[in-house]
Amino acid sequence: HGTIQVGELAKEMGVKAADVIRKFMEMGTMVTINQSIDAETAAIVASEFGYEVEAATVEEEALLEYVPPSPEELKPRPPIVTVMGHVDHGKTTLLDAIRHTDVAAREAGGITQHIGAYKVRLPDGREITFIDTPGHEAFTSMRARGAQVTDLVILVVAADDGVMDQTREAIDHARAAGVPIVVAINKIDKPDANPERVKSELAELGLVPEDWGGETLMAEVSAKKRQGIEDLLELVLLQAEMLDLKAAPDRPARGRIIESRLDKGKGPVATVIVQEGTLREGDPFVAGMTFGRVRAMLNERGERLKEAPPATPVEVLGFEEVPQAGDDFIVMPDETAARRVAEYRQRKAREAEAAREARLSLERVFEKL
Ligand code: GDP
Ligand code: MG
Repeated sequence: HGTIQVGELAKEMGVKAADVIRKFMEMGTMVTINQSIDAETAAIVASEFGYEVEAATVEEEALLEYVPPSPEELKPRPPIVTVMGHVDHGKTTLLDAIRHTDVAAREAGGITQHIGAYKVRLPDGREITFIDTPGHEAFTSMRARGAQVTDLVILVVAADDGVMDQTREAIDHARAAGVPIVVAINKIDKPDANPERVKSELAELGLVPEDWGGETLMAEVSAKKRQGIEDLLELVLLQAEMLDLKAAPDRPARGRIIESRLDKGKGPVATVIVQEGTLREGDPFVAGMTFGRVRAMLNERGERLKEAPPATPVEVLGFEEVPQAGDDFIVMPDETAARRVAEYRQRKAREAEAAREARLSLERVFEKL
C-alpha cells in the first residue's frame, strides 16, 4: 500500500486542503496538510467529495417524476415505424413512395419540408408514423440513450441483390430491440429480381415468410414504380394491431427529440415525436438540458398545428438552445419549472463530469502509490 499527502489529495480533487482536513476531523481523525495517509483512507475521503451522486431528492426530481397512465386513460395510437436495410436497396425511394399514399399530402399538393418524421394517413383514416432519419445509426444511437421510439421495422431487401451485410445488421438491431420486422422485398420490377431467393435467404436467418408456414409478413414491392405499397402498409397495420399500441392522450405531453438544428430564421428547432399526452402550442417544456415553450408546431407540410396527440411528429419552435437527438421532451407546469429542471440537469451533468475527471486523476495518483 502506498501513501499520499493530504494536500496532494485535496489538489487532485480540486478542493481546498482545509475542507479535506475538516472532513478527516468529522471522521474523528486529526491530520495536517503534509501528513501522509494510506490509499484506502484516501479513497474513503475522496468518496466524500463528489464520488457519490447527491442522494437528496430535490424538487426538480419531483417535477420529472413519471406516473404511468392507468388502463382507462389509454387509447389506441398509430404505430411508429423505421425503415432499415442495406444501402441502395431502396429505403429512401420507398419512404418517398409511401409519402405519396398520404391523402393529406395529396390534398396539400405535396410535402414541402423535411422534418425527419411524418405521419401518413390512409384513405380509410388509419395512420402510420414514419421516422425518416437515416437507418441504423439513428436507431442504435437512440436506443443506446434509452430512447426507443420505434414499434416496428420495415426491412427493405432488394430482390436483385438479396440479403447483404447491413440487412443482417438491421435484423440484429431489430431483434435486440425486440421490435417486429415486416419485410419489403423491393425492386421486383427489375428483370433479375428473384424474390424467392430473398425469401429463402431470410428464412435461413429465422425470418420465415407466412406462405412458407412462418410468421414474418412480407410484401413484394417496387418503390420506384410505386407498386405494392398499399399491400405493404396493410401488413404494417396488421403487425401493429398485434402489438395493441396504446397511449394516454389526455395528459401533459412526453416525447423524444428525433433531430434538431439551428435555423437561421427560426432559431433552434427540433422534430419531436410525441409518445404520450397531447402537445399544445404554448406548452412549457424541458428537453434534455435545455428548455423552452412551444412557440409553434409544424407538420411536414409546413402546416401549423395547435395540438399533437400521441405518435405525432412535429417540428417545434421555441427552444432556448438546440437539443440533441435522443433527448427526452417533457411538458412542465410552467416555464419557471422548465428552466429549473434544465438548470438542475446541467448542474448534475457538470458535477458528473467533474467527478469523472477527479476520479481519473485520482486513479493516476493511486496507480503511482
Ligand atoms: P437507399 O440507399 O436504401 O435509401 O436506396 P435508394 O432509395 O437511394 O435507392 C437506390 C437506387 O435504387 C436508386 O437509384 C433508386 O432509384 C433505385 N431503386 C429504388 N427502388 C427501386 C425499385 O423498386 N426498382 C428499381 N428498378 N430501382 C429502385
Ligand atoms: Mg437512402
